Amino acid sequence: EAKRNRRTQVVTFDRRIHVRTTRQFQIEASLPDAIARGEIEVYFQPILDTTRGCIAGFEALARWQHPELGAIPPPEFIRAATESGHIGALTQCVLRKACLDFLPHLASPAQPYLAVNVSVSDIYGGEFPAQLAKTLASLGMPANRLVLEVTEDMLLGDEQLAAETLAQLRAQGVRIAIDDFGTGYSSMGYLSHYQVHIIKIDRSFVRNIATSPQDQKIVRAIISMAADLDLSVITEGVETQEQSALLRSMGCVLQQGYVFSRPQPAAQWAGMTRLPAAAG
Ligand code: C2E
Ligand code: MG
Ligand code: MG
Ligand code: MG
Repeated sequence: EAKRNRRTQVVTFDRRIHVRTTRQFQIEASLPDAIARGEIEVYFQPILDTTRGCIAGFEALARWQHPELGAIPPPEFIRAATESGHIGALTQCVLRKACLDFLPHLASPAQPYLAVNVSVSDIYGGEFPAQLAKTLASLGMPANRLVLEVTEDMLLGDEQLAAETLAQLRAQGVRIAIDDFGTGYSSMGYLSHYQVHIIKIDRSFVRNIATSPQDQKIVRAIISMAADLDLSVITEGVETQEQSALLRSMGCVLQQGYVFSRPQPAAQWAGMTRLPAAAG
């Protein structure tokens, strides 16, 4: 009886591993062509300035509709791209598309910025800052309208190299945001060490903010520390008006989340500087 159970478990376990490997293999195998053919799309989610009611920025988020597998979650194809050595090409492709789509917003009076997520290989590859400078120049995208989002974990490897890369980016006028702040395994010393500009408080602290005094304390502490360090703060994953109002009362003016808008194709944002009244 026990033996049979164990055997069943082993079989199930094997099948799961097999299925996952095939999927992963399929994803990795079709990635280079998808990147080359421009099948990776870029959606944009606004970051709201909740006091002025305008769009402070747009975060570019990669989307991939696989011909056989359907929509692949970004973390899954980002991981596949990283493991198969295609993440550099993916970053460049997303960056180019995002900038091109963003160019019409340059003239907008609200002066929104564009945020693009970068990966760990971009930070440690050595070529990224120079490549970026070239891309921005060729597209006519001013560096001071670009924010690059990195996660805390990305900065844990070779500190010297990461600091050099970030310094080169900063010298171009690019700003750096720490994404998913508070979830990584790191001390906060790096915030001044790396001279970042923005921290994005992870949505896990926002989810229960209305009911959890503990999460409120953490968010208050982050906001106060950010103010001391002269950093901007954004809260991500804001899903309700209640969360939004509370966060605003705590001093977090910049917010991003489904309560304002889901990520949408660029066309949706043409000429928009604020959200339609009902949504904001
Ligand atoms: P992220 O950079 O932290 O992006 C925010 C994620 O949260 C996005 O998921 C967004 O759709 C989602 N989100 C926004 N508002 C809400 C909300 O109110 N509630 C909830 N539950 N979720 C919300 P998405 O687009 O699936 O991307 C997931 C992650 O994949 C990103 O997290 C980022 O780490 C990575 N990623 C996406 N696009 C790229 C890219 O072009 N390059 C790199 N390197 N990574 C990317
Ligand atoms: Mg991000
Ligand atoms: Mg995030
Ligand atoms: Mg995230």
